[in-house]
Amino acid sequence: MASTELDSLVAQTLHHDIGAAKTGDLLVPPIVPAAIYYLPGDPSGPHQYGRWSNPTWDALEHALSVLEDAEIIAFPSGMAAISSVFYSQLRQGQRVLLASDGYYTTRSLAEKFLVPMGIVVESCPTIEFETRSFDGFRLVLIETPSNPGLDICDLSSVIERAKTSGALAIVDNTAMTPLGQRPLDFGADAIISSDSKAINGHSDTCFGHVASRSAALMAEVRDWRKLSGAIPGFFEAWLVHRGIETLELRFERMCTSAMALASKLAAHPKIKSVKYPGLPTHPRHMVAKEQMRRFGSLIGVTFAGGEDAERFINSARFVRPATSFGGTHTSAERRARWGDQVPAGFIRLSVGCEPTEVLWAEMKRVLDTL
Ligand SMILES: *Cc1c(COP(=O)(O)O)cnc(C)c1O
Repeated sequence: MASTELDSLVAQTLHHDIGAAKTGDLLVPPIVPAAIYYLPGDPSGPHQYGRWSNPTWDALEHALSVLEDAEIIAFPSGMAAISSVFYSQLRQGQRVLLASDGYYTTRSLAEKFLVPMGIVVESCPTIEFETRSFDGFRLVLIETPSNPGLDICDLSSVIERAKTSGALAIVDNTAMTPLGQRPLDFGADAIISSDSKAINGHSDTCFGHVASRSAALMAEVRDWRKLSGAIPGFFEAWLVHRGIETLELRFERMCTSAMALASKLAAHPKIKSVKYPGLPTHPRHMVAKEQMRRFGSLIGVTFAGGEDAERFINSARFVRPATSFGGTHTSAERRARWGDQVPAGFIRLSVGCEPTEVLWAEMKRVLDTL
């Protein structure tokens, strides 16, 4: 997709209700708390019961559908979105492939609940998705860049091979958002996103969505939401709607800062190594350039040891010690504290919306004291 086309989608997302508005209408959607709706006679009309639909979800889904150029189903968290795809698509005896270096909770969910249901769960590192055979798999869950290692696989060829093998190609696009990477344009059957990260972007609610251009798949995901009851809150949907109005501005700043900081950090003598898809030193930089519109807001930084890493996180004024990423505040954490297979001195730095030079000055001040 050309950047002018994406720019047009961003503008259309802001004005997604155009055409439907009447004089005096609100310019932004209201929060509609509703468990029941007026429903005389034979049930009909857009809303019948609160677990099935809600006007605030509709507004948010409509806005996101413009941005993703796909149908959207909203969920109360990223994990609820992932679960909806697993539980609506997988049956006993089928095989699913996960990234062994992907989001940890996805693998825990699969091991704890899919395996006892007779679903065969396998995993391999993200970079091996490019060579691994997908024969016999029902679903392949791709995560590129991986988290927290930021490894990259070739989306277009992995998606094509998965589909040729008869597997559903699903991409967890949380870290990139539809502004940074558009797996549906490479033929992915669906993307799932944790909107607790950059899409809401203000670290004040959990949320998630599934986006797909397959009506059949989405009908099943919708049934899952309706029957399981994994429904978003109306207030949270409203917050996310408000969040996406500034997504492009925030993501632009975050990615621009991340690119600048990655180069500066890599050149600092107190840093052992830096992994960032936008740096030519990233082993898959050429693939990243091909498939990513922006290189993201996450940087993998390795210090000499865990102590240096902790001092950096806790002493830099504009870096908050926190898990998660994609918010307005720059944050960082040592992933080894969760048991990730990374060196003790490795941190995942999530670059926020602070002015770039202020962030760097503060980071440099602390690095120079290590
Ligand atoms: C955070 C995250 C999730 C889970 O999302 P929640 O909103 O916390 O449920 C899934 N995948 C990735 C890549 C994430 O970063």
